[in-house]
Amino acid sequence: MRIDKLLANMGYGTRKEVKALLKSGNVRVNGDPERSPKTHVDPDEDSVTVMGDEVEYREFIYLMMNKPGDLISATEDAHDTTVIDILQPEDHVFNPFPVGRLDKDTEGLLLITNDGQLAHKLTSPKKNIGKTYYAVIDGEVTEEDVTAFSKGVTLDDGYETKPGELVILESGAESEIELTITEGKFHQVKRMFEAVGKKVTYLKRIRMGTLELDSDLELGEYRELTDEELDYLF
Ligand code: URA
Repeated sequence: MRIDKLLANMGYGTRKEVKALLKSGNVRVNGDPERSPKTHVDPDEDSVTVMGDEVEYREFIYLMMNKPGDLISATEDAHDTTVIDILQPEDHVFNPFPVGRLDKDTEGLLLITNDGQLAHKLTSPKKNIGKTYYAVIDGEVTEEDVTAFSKGVTLDDGYETKPGELVILESGAESEIELTITEGKFHQVKRMFEAVGKKVTYLKRIRMGTLELDSDLELGEYRELTDEELDYLF
């Protein structure tokens, strides 16, 4: 990889700024000053330093966010703050994006990455990756609902959902449930409950495949995935 690309990717400025940085003689490759932006380096083999600090090159970033119910899960939005807007400047360098969409008022697990292949794997309905939601429902949730969801329900636009696994945690005037689905249609959980005449009043994603929301993350906080979490995801 060209050294100017590597440095720009790692947040050392635009290509133009990086060119000036190289010219200044403050970049060294394997101990020797390197001034040409065209020089190729191997990020795995070569040691690159800027003003004596080692540049740790990596291509991908994987972040787990506990999304609060007032952010849009998009990279940019003309009116509202997005989950990307609240990332630290050093994370923006990677051009990350949220994997799948949560409604603005939905909280919980959101993976943010720049790894398109992993994003595809987690969101493609063909891959059958379960997404589990905790929800509060206005009204009683019954065993009939469990059976209906296990067969798939018909949404307002006529779409027949794939089977979903509904677990009743508490049923009463206000019920608590967990629902695992393998698709991600627009407002799917809310519309599945509408299909059985019920309303979701609170929704939070708690799991995606093997990835569980870290209960230590406050709303709006995020952290990098651990090596173990990453190993399980791939
Ligand atoms: N289903 C919904 O209705 N909303 C979400 O944000 C996610 C799944």
